[in-house]
Amino acid sequence: MNQNQHNTKQRIKLRILSRKNIIIAKVGLPLQHKKFLKYNTLYVKYSENIEPIPQSIAAVPFITPLLFLSLATGIPIEVEVIDEEFLKSIRRLKKIISRLNGINEPKTVVIYQQLSKNTHSNLSNKYLILYGGGIDSSATLIENLKHKPILFTVQGLDISPEETKAWHYKRKMIRRLAQKLKLQVVFAKTNIKEAINTPYLAEKYRTKNFWGEIAHGPVTICLSAPITYKYNVRYVLSPSSHGEDRYFKWGSSRLIDESVSWLKTRVIHSNYKLSRQEKIIKYIKNNQWILPYLQVCHDQYFYPNCGLCEKCLRTIAGLALAGVDPRKMHFGYIGKKTFKMLEEGFLKGGLRWTLKSFDENIRYMWNDIKLHIKDDIPDIMGSKYFFISLKKFNLEKYRPNPISQLVWRISYSIIFKKLKTELIRKIKTLI
Ligand SMILES: [Zn+2]
Repeated sequence: MNQNQHNTKQRIKLRILSRKNIIIAKVGLPLQHKKFLKYNTLYVKYSENIEPIPQSIAAVPFITPLLFLSLATGIPIEVEVIDEEFLKSIRRLKKIISRLNGINEPKTVVIYQQLSKNTHSNLSNKYLILYGGGIDSSATLIENLKHKPILFTVQGLDISPEETKAWHYKRKMIRRLAQKLKLQVVFAKTNIKEAINTPYLAEKYRTKNFWGEIAHGPVTICLSAPITYKYNVRYVLSPSSHGEDRYFKWGSSRLIDESVSWLKTRVIHSNYKLSRQEKIIKYIKNNQWILPYLQVCHDQYFYPNCGLCEKCLRTIAGLALAGVDPRKMHFGYIGKKTFKMLEEGFLKGGLRWTLKSFDENIRYMWNDIKLHIKDDIPDIMGSKYFFISLKKFNLEKYRPNPISQLVWRISYSIIFKKLKTELIRKIKTLI
């Protein structure tokens, strides 16, 4: 590659430093694009030592988010050293992401001084799973238990890097699950997602949800590179969130995720043929021991799942429809009001379904549940009446009603204050 092809001021410069369990990246952005990142120091911190690590692998988690800026602006990323296989992967992603988003594909996205041909002499058949604790990753875990995968969970994606309570809870639950299954678990913490000023590229990628619709797949996968190096992992399992009939943009798909690779590590976008409801039927229903470990909610920090937000209620509905008693999962509130609340939420527009950019995704998920309502409807806590009503409900016409949502929010916080005091009392009795 000719280094003189580009004006050196017009480069995204990346400098990598690693020490014990942390990798730090100093990012130098061209003046006119400084706003892409809220801070110019990014980090990924792992729950264990990752040294010795070649710089070509330590750089992988940071090159990927910058690739999206490079594609949008045509300005290349400058790195000292890059892994040969990762460079191929970046070139594949360059093509795919440009095409999917109607961007003119730039000729060069990475300028490097040295190409690293890392090889693993004794290549294993080890697996690592990007484990978030929800239905998708738990289905992938159950499917791949025979491979004894390493569980890899990151703080800074669904839960912010500063949020300690929610993270503490999540980590504890995943540790317990790993202990039960005798699996190895590695945690990481990063500020990469938080640092990206997502509205900055929104127009270029024609989205209001840059993280969800464009970037999250490859960025999340690449955070695992140092761990795959340490443990000689061959396959990274990236759980799919949708079935093959997805009709809207999403930042994680078989095409995107399986284009990512480094060294001899390959990515498997698992269960992409199944919808979420199909995963519940195929994996969760037959492995109900996983239910107490499931965590789907990010709305509160005092219980693994609140039981009141749209995501919790959707999970409760999905389980009940499959004939699985959702009370086996941990919810802050679950009871005879649950399905009444859901029905009211739909009829009065009160469901917390507010982020406009999330609309298609969530509508798709509810439609998946709706399509699985057959004549033989299970009745768990009054679910039957709700499913009959949902079957007739036109999801296309659902519009959130600000007043109903306000009422919903107020009742949510009232119930939650009560729950909090109850939980504190329970904890005190345990101590
Ligand atoms: Zn919730």
